[in-house]
Amino acid sequence: MTTTPTALARPVTAAIRAGYAWSVRREKQQAWLEIARMTGVIMRHFGPGQGPVAPAELVNLLHQPLGTWLPTDDPALAGLVILGDDGQLTDDTYGIGCDYTVDLLAGQEDPGRTWLPRWRTHRAEQVEQEAFKRLVSGSDEDYTTGRRFLVENPAGAQDAILDRQTALGLPPLVEFSPIPQDRQWQGRWWPCPTCKWPMAVSTSGHVSCRFRPHQATYTLLNGAGRSPRLQPDDGAPSAGRARLVDGAVCVAESIWRYVVVPGVVEIRLHDRINALPGITAHLYPGKDRFDIGVRKASEQEWLFTLDVKDFASPVALAAKINERPISAGHLVIPDYRRDQLLELGRLLPAVKVVTETQIYRRISRMAKEEQ
Ligand SMILES: [Zn+2]
Repeated sequence: MTTTPTALARPVTAAIRAGYAWSVRREKQQAWLEIARMTGVIMRHFGPGQGPVAPAELVNLLHQPLGTWLPTDDPALAGLVILGDDGQLTDDTYGIGCDYTVDLLAGQEDPGRTWLPRWRTHRAEQVEQEAFKRLVSGSDEDYTTGRRFLVENPAGAQDAILDRQTALGLPPLVEFSPIPQDRQWQGRWWPCPTCKWPMAVSTSGHVSCRFRPHQATYTLLNGAGRSPRLQPDDGAPSAGRARLVDGAVCVAESIWRYVVVPGVVEIRLHDRINALPGITAHLYPGKDRFDIGVRKASEQEWLFTLDVKDFASPVALAAKINERPISAGHLVIPDYRRDQLLELGRLLPAVKVVTETQIYRRISRMAKEEQ
């Protein structure tokens, strides 16, 4: 039996929720009940006599590739292991798992609402809507400024963030909280060079951004009497200096995963295009009708309209686009997802799919010809 991505969203979300509950079972009383409840959701998906029948059995399966117990046509999903040997969620869960998250208990009270991180209970659109609800009544410009502010300031000294917010005339958009324990080391934290959100610090002295394509992985070097330093692993960009936890804050994980991570690519591409001579790019025009609109500086008509989609699984992305088509002319994938081009072309024959560099080069050539 194989199932469509949409039908798989429920058991996958349940598996991730159970995995998270397992990882915090010592601190959160509700965790056991959540694992039992999610076992129920997965049992309903399989039907009588198939799949895991007890919470302990489910927890065992969460340590194995999903495809070995939950049949799927999506190779990315089939290879996903939810719980690592350390009993914590694996980094892939933050990548592939998020592509599938749905609101499992829509229309009823979700007992996990108060303690489960929202990216495990809500779809990206819900997290976005909630973050920007204060902006949608304002002007298009306010919306763009606010959204950009959040992407560029996901963590830092609280005073500095508040000052910037006030200087831009923005209302408070989302909650900023102290740097979580698992992102600290002896009173310090490090922002990921790409997304600026606090990197995770493992007990073995490894520091990394949990969004794998950022390739930010480091070994903590702690010379006697000297301040700690991060040694980049192969291919990692050099890390910034350590910051003090005292007085520092960051946005919630769901905002990071659904607004900041994709926003980094959207803003980077916008800024590159906007710097081209004779070209103007608009970020989130019409309060996010699409991500980027491109015009000739002298004209009103859109020349290109772009929507950036950052999914770990091409199958899940295609399912999403089929469910809700994009309104932009091009679907842009980050450069680090360029391997998906061929498969997306096959899965979405009617959609123009390009990488960020491909579309940048096309617009850049056009700008040169106009000169
Ligand atoms: Zn990062």
